Amino acid sequence: MSYFRGKTALVTGAAGGIGAAIVKQLRAEGVRVAVADRDVAGVDAEAHLPGDLLDASYADSLSAAAFAALSGLDILVNNAGVITRGSVANTTDADWALSLGVNVEAPFRVCRGAIPIMADRGGGAIVNVSSCWGVRPGPNHAVYCMTKAAVASLTQCMGMDHAHQNIRVNAVCPNEVNTPMLRTGFVKRGFDPDTAVAELGKTVPIGRIAEPEDIAAVVLFLASDAARYMCGSLVEVNGGKPVG
Ligand code: NAD
Repeated sequence: MSYFRGKTALVTGAAGGIGAAIVKQLRAEGVRVAVADRDVAGVDAEAHLPGDLLDASYADSLSAAAFAALSGLDILVNNAGVITRGSVANTTDADWALSLGVNVEAPFRVCRGAIPIMADRGGGAIVNVSSCWGVRPGPNHAVYCMTKAAVASLTQCMGMDHAHQNIRVNAVCPNEVNTPMLRTGFVKRGFDPDTAVAELGKTVPIGRIAEPEDIAAVVLFLASDAARYMCGSLVEVNGGKPVG
């Protein structure tokens, strides 16, 4: 696709289920990619920027580090995330700090670093990975839903505020995706993940839950000029199964 000729990208959470699929699809289109995660040793990419997004100085400097490594920064995908379960009554201080730190503060810091770089270069595209639970919350994941709603709101705000700089900011909002995040949740609750994924798939009108590649494809669309008039959109990717 010519949209991506000569482009450069930074992807966070690049070692995870959805992140790895995004990196693969971007690179298959010829994009040079800088990958960020706690451990990126096993991820093929043009630049490796390992670190902990809870470290404010790492998150603040990540966009500049990607720009330096790739001599460009056209696309930023804020994909890293953590899930904590439970109601407010059983959310610990540690869960609160982790969820807010990784899911909200880190994308804020990484975007704050990327926007002036993209503005100086005449524009760019930012895609945040929110969740369908960021649009309409589901039960028993109060803080996770709140963090994904915060990212959705930040996306809408940045989409308005930076459109005039030709920086388009949008979000994908997946429903259930077959990744380590989902599967470890099943294991923790004592279910066999393959059986649970198959059972869950029966509740989705399209007949299966999403694979990481299904989400990555929409991330690439939003990052491409095919989405040139989209700014601040929250795109639900749910196989016909909206929450609520
Ligand atoms: P995953 O657990 O496979 O990947 C998440 C990645 O984020 C991991 O590689 C992890 O190391 C990285 N990460 C977490 N904390 C970090 C930190 N402090 N510093 C650096 N990296 C860190 O999960 P996934 O399902 O691929 O999730 C990707 C995104 O999709 C997340 O934002 C998640 O909330 C969102 N999402 C997932 C689903 C789903 O069902 N899997 C549904 C909706 C939204």
